[in-house]
Amino acid sequence: MMNRKSFIIIMGPQGSGKSTQASLLADYIGYKFISSGKYLRKLEGEGDPIGVKLSEYWKDGGLVPDELINEIMFSLFEKDVSNGFVIDGFPRNHSQLKVFLSYLNVNDWVLRAVVYLYVSEEECLKRIESRSKIEMRLDESPDSVKKRLSLYHLETEPLIAEYNSRGILKKINAEQSIKNIQSDIHSALGI
Ligand code: AMP
Repeated sequence: MMNRKSFIIIMGPQGSGKSTQASLLADYIGYKFISSGKYLRKLEGEGDPIGVKLSEYWKDGGLVPDELINEIMFSLFEKDVSNGFVIDGFPRNHSQLKVFLSYLNVNDWVLRAVVYLYVSEEECLKRIESRSKIEMRLDESPDSVKKRLSLYHLETEPLIAEYNSRGILKKINAEQSIKNIQSDIHSALGI
C-alpha cells in the first residue's frame, strides 16, 4: 500500500522555541523532526559543497533561494520512510507554501496542522541572546538577528492567515514553560 505521509508545521518567530517543541512533538507522535535551518547548518558543517555555497545566503541572516530549499526539503521527505514529519523553518514564504501545497497534492499527502507559537518580540530577543551564548550560531550577530526577525514578519507571518483560512491553524501561547507549551500543543492537536 502507498505510504500516505502526514505533515505538521511548527511556526513562530526566531526565539519562540520552535525547534524544541517540534522535536518533542515528533518524538511524542512518532513523526520525524526536520528543521530546514538545522539541516542547512549541518550541510555546511560537514563541508558539503552545496551546504557551503548556501551558507553565503544564511550567514548574514538572508534567505536561501526558494527553488533550492524546496528541492532540499522534498528530497528529505522522499528519502525518509517515516509516515509523518514535524517541520520547522519551512515553508518560509508564500512562494514556498504554494509549491509545497501542490507537491503534497500530487503525492496525495496531508498537511495535518500548523502550530503557531506566539510570543512577544521582547521575549524573542531575550531568548536569542541567551541561546547565542551557548550555540555560537554564525547568523546570531545582532544585525543578522534583526534581519531574520524582519524577514519573518515580512515573509513568513502572512502565511498565518492562509493556514487560518484553511482551518488548520493551532495558536499556542509560547510564553510558558516548555512542558506547558508542549501539553497545549497536544490538546490543540487532540493527541
Ligand atoms: P532557522 O534555523 O530556521 O532560523 O534557519 C536559519 C537560516 O537558514 C535562515 O535564516 C535562512 O537563511 C535559512 N533557511 C532555513 N529555512 C529556510 C527556508 N525555508 N527558506 C529559505 N531559507 C531558509
